[in-house]
Amino acid sequence: MRLSRYFLPVLKETPAEAQIVSHRLMLRAGMIKQAASGIYSWLPLGYKVLRRIEQIVHEEQARAGHIPMLMPTLQSADLWRESGRYDDYGEEMLRVTDRHGRDMLYGPTNEELITDIFRAHVGSYKDLPLTLYHIQWKFRDEVRPRFGVMRGREFYMKDGYNFDVDKDAAVHAYNRHMVSYLRTYERMGLKAIPMRADTGPIGGDLSHEFLVLAETGESEVFYDAAIADLKFGDRDVDYDDRGECAGIVTEWTTPYARTDETHDAAVFEESVPEDRRRRSRAIEVGQIFYFGTKYSEPMGATVVDDHGTHVPVHMGSHGIGVSRLVGAIIEASHDENGIIWPEGVTPFHCGIVNLKQGDAEADAACETLYAALTARGLEPLYDDRDERAGAKFATMDLVGLPWRITVGPRGLKNGVVELTCRRSGESTEMTPEDAVARLVEIYAPHRG
Ligand code: ATP
Ligand code: MG
Repeated sequence: MRLSRYFLPVLKETPAEAQIVSHRLMLRAGMIKQAASGIYSWLPLGYKVLRRIEQIVHEEQARAGHIPMLMPTLQSADLWRESGRYDDYGEEMLRVTDRHGRDMLYGPTNEELITDIFRAHVGSYKDLPLTLYHIQWKFRDEVRPRFGVMRGREFYMKDGYNFDVDKDAAVHAYNRHMVSYLRTYERMGLKAIPMRADTGPIGGDLSHEFLVLAETGESEVFYDAAIADLKFGDRDVDYDDRGECAGIVTEWTTPYARTDETHDAAVFEESVPEDRRRRSRAIEVGQIFYFGTKYSEPMGATVVDDHGTHVPVHMGSHGIGVSRLVGAIIEASHDENGIIWPEGVTPFHCGIVNLKQGDAEADAACETLYAALTARGLEPLYDDRDERAGAKFATMDLVGLPWRITVGPRGLKNGVVELTCRRSGESTEMTPEDAVARLVEIYAPHRG
């Protein structure tokens, strides 16, 4: 993309209404614009990051054997009356009435809708296990929408639902989700720690939240420093192997890690040596639940088991805050000059800064680089504006592309350009061909 033709409305001033750094940087980098309280338009740069995150979620769900679909945002109130949640959900639910006087609602989550689909089409244990998911906009009329996309009213969420014949199978689905989530967040450059959590309005008896440590987080967490050192890495996991998934879950749930809702000071002090006890703020970026037959029983979602008996199906639900993640990643990865995107989610793979726009040689070198990167499947953002070098660098730093190639007449005399790492600030001179080769190598592990 050529910056002269792009739509990147960066702001010079720090917006006064933004209280936390991710919100400020998303506004300044022209990623979002507020449309109404807690509701945002995703401008091109923000939309690109949202899509990258969504893509990683899809790829990791596919790896775990989960099946994508799409359910609507508007739902009928009748389904929610069946589960009893129409009254229970309270003020957070946005209720609407259509022209025929029918009660509708903008879905805050989809347990009822998916259970209705399941009961209409699945009748036998032979069709299980089954895990369906979608990535769709949700609406929760939060009392205090704040922090930009971190606590919006309209937000983008991946929600998945597993259907299993009995508790053991459903616990395996739970474990499988935990494993696939660990991998998902790591690919986004995040350390998201699974912590034992309350089940809240979703119900059930087994739940973990995934938390990213950050001062501005709304959750208070207590954990053993040992868990922050665990790395999932590039393991080859057989998601059908119950023992293997359970082993990974044990590895990640043995060190103490709980939110304030489930924190037990006595257990914390007993089980964690003092020098490893940590208390921090954190951002919830996902949550998984096993809730058994909480919805299947009242809604009559049963299967015939291998004895010919109708049994209510065992379920769980599993959410990832896709739009919140954009903010959470920035909270975890920025400096005083702007965002620093992890390679896995960056909107463009690298920036190209032309130090002397209009200089025939510099322009030609940038065009050649642009074409070479594109041919290798990389997407550069080329700052081809007639601007001072300082202004171009400031924009690149603000929007946070992890790599920048700087092209100027002086370097070109020696046949070199400069490759700069946004995170370390380190620059290396090399030929344009080497710069392209280096970037191809850097991004190779980040391709799905
Ligand atoms: P919270 O405690 O932050 O209100 P929740 O526990 O009610 O969230 P879940 O039902 O677990 O949310 O939804 C799954 C994920 O969706 C959350 O882990 C979070 O990342 C994201 N999410 C929930 N509410 C919001 C919101 N208002 N804005 C943006 N993302 C949200
Ligand atoms: Mg939650």
